[in-house]
Amino acid sequence: METRDVTIEVLRYRPEQDSEPFFQSYTVPCEEHWVVLDALNYIKDELDRTLSYRWSCHMFVCGSCGMVINGEPMLSCKKFVRDFGDKIRVEPLSNFPIERDLVIVQDDFMEKLSSVKPYLIPKEERSIESGEYLQTPAQLKTYKQYTMCINCLCCYAACPQYGLDDKFIGPAALALAHRYNADSRDVGRSAREDVVASHEGIWECSFVGACSLVCPKDVEPAGAIQQTKFTSAIDYITGMVSGGGKK
Ligand code: SF4
Ligand code: SF4
Repeated sequence: METRDVTIEVLRYRPEQDSEPFFQSYTVPCEEHWVVLDALNYIKDELDRTLSYRWSCHMFVCGSCGMVINGEPMLSCKKFVRDFGDKIRVEPLSNFPIERDLVIVQDDFMEKLSSVKPYLIPKEERSIESGEYLQTPAQLKTYKQYTMCINCLCCYAACPQYGLDDKFIGPAALALAHRYNADSRDVGRSAREDVVASHEGIWECSFVGACSLVCPKDVEPAGAIQQTKFTSAIDYITGMVSGGGKK
């Protein structure tokens, strides 16, 4: 198999021995069909077993291998080496603390994700014997796009607002809140509202749209946030008119 030598510059940081992150270069004989993750796996298998990074499925489903490649957040299993020149720079996702090499600390996102109650809150609980919570294809279509999120966090690495203020709930968690709010089987919108419509929620988003541009699954988190802003504003105005405050 014909190969091409590519220099892979990887950000290294092992907190027990490195005072600060630094770049380490590896020469990798890349095959035509390789994605960047294949090059990292070659380094791990053949050149340097100490390199740490996350991956699992190699088919952009698990969301584990988000990294900054040549300055842009993306899945390393989705980007072909042949689309780059002879040098590729690989860094951990921006805006998160580094745990080790390309592995980031995800705790902040996990807390934010659970704070928006990302699960179905039905009007009435059904027993398993009663069957599924049914809905029509048209009802499914209203939110299906937002179910495609794989929690890769590329959108957080691209979001300038999250970079400025890590209290911001951020694009993926807010898009997931919208996914459930828009689900005809769900009545949890008011239970999510305190977090979603807080200062750290949708109103913190400046709608630059960088999140949607980098999303590998076309989730459009920026669009989801704008739709949530619209419904929250309508709720507020309705509450003012009826004298009942927010719903
Ligand atoms: S649209 Fe909002 S969430 Fe998306 S990158 Fe911009 S500020 Fe961040
Ligand atoms: S919205 Fe897109 S970029 Fe953000 S975590 Fe989900 S799949 Fe990744």
